[in-house]
Amino acid sequence: MTRASFRSYLGGIFLQILAYIAPSLKNRASILMYHSVCERKDYFSAISPEVFNQQMAYLAAKKRKVIPLAELVRRLRAHEPLGGAVVLTFDDGYRDNYTDVFPLLKQYRFPATIFVTTDYIGTPEYCSAEELCEMHESGLIGIEPHTLTHPKLAHLSRADALREIGESRRILEDILGTTPTLFAYPYGNFSNETVDIVCEIGFTGAVTVAPGTVDHNADILQLPRNSVDSSTTFSQFHGKVSRAIDWYVALKFSLRI
Ligand SMILES: [Zn+2]
Repeated sequence: MTRASFRSYLGGIFLQILAYIAPSLKNRASILMYHSVCERKDYFSAISPEVFNQQMAYLAAKKRKVIPLAELVRRLRAHEPLGGAVVLTFDDGYRDNYTDVFPLLKQYRFPATIFVTTDYIGTPEYCSAEELCEMHESGLIGIEPHTLTHPKLAHLSRADALREIGESRRILEDILGTTPTLFAYPYGNFSNETVDIVCEIGFTGAVTVAPGTVDHNADILQLPRNSVDSSTTFSQFHGKVSRAIDWYVALKFSLRI
């Protein structure tokens, strides 16, 4: 085992322990980040439809409030209570979001946001424009941009970053007939200039990949998200919708693990 994988293994155990003792979110919210939901064992970011179903069943059984990301952003801007809400987000626009995730979300009546890399639309593993429209028109799924080509935005010139962000927004606007308002930074990679561009273009909220929960002190254009991937155990999932994830981040920082 390499040092990095030992650290992540140890971190995972800490989070699992904290999940048993941490309090609920109260007036905070947790934004979860998913990618693909499929049986692919070789893809770290993918979880199986069965595991995803178990997680949704857990949220439903615990009567957790699952709200759209746009609603969370609205509440943050209006200084309204967050009520321990959970927000579901999916990055990149995988086709299984339509074939496997969308039917389950309809069953649970859980809203979600899909951040689409627009150059991938209609390619074999990704949603088509028609599928994105159908989900958008259901009123349950928000479709928002995630750039044209999924670059590391902080590494681009201002003009290129502006094009990646602005054009992907325009393409979705053409497909959906409504103006996207939310953005996700690919790889969670951004600079102060990237945030300025996102603000100038007119997005009302943007999400990163930094773990933690959200409260009213959060920067609305740099909201944290908790990743749910193939390494996430059920206890860790539990921890990611409670204060455990914040304790874990603080512990990790103080112990430098
Ligand atoms: Zn992505």
